Amino acid sequence: MAKVLVSSCLLGLSCKYNGSNNYNKAVTEFCRDKIVILACPEVLGGLPTPRPPSELQQGDGQDILKGEGSVVNKLGNDVTKNFLEGAQKAYQLAKENNVKVSVLKAKSPSCGSGKIYDGQFCGRLKNGDGVTAALFKKNNIKVLTEEDFNES
Ligand code: SF4
Repeated sequence: MAKVLVSSCLLGLSCKYNGSNNYNKAVTEFCRDKIVILACPEVLGGLPTPRPPSELQQGDGQDILKGEGSVVNKLGNDVTKNFLEGAQKAYQLAKENNVKVSVLKAKSPSCGSGKIYDGQFCGRLKNGDGVTAALFKKNNIKVLTEEDFNES
């Protein structure tokens, strides 16, 4: 049976920064015939739920992995270490389970792929990957998001 690592919030776990979730019916359907490994990188990185939202201030997840830029929460606290730790733990889970495909939450500073919020906490997007998505791509794990599935 195929394996897939999925952002926990997409399957209804309330681990989102504001204590809610991002349940997605199409992703849930996609997972029905697969072995699913759930991961919330921000919780794996030691952050509580709820928590203040965070955004990448400069660059994207690829830069954070190189030691450049930072992830800062809305209160001004640097949470880069938590994001890196969470990404490493999520990657470890993927590696241990021989996962080649993931479905991660679009636009998130951890899970987003291709587009993330721009660091100003105003809802504007910039090009780039979240920290976990960047680490997965670097290790040749395919990253899909819920936007790759049509809601029915
Ligand atoms: S870190 Fe990823 S899995 Fe966790 S709440 Fe944010 S988007 Fe969802």
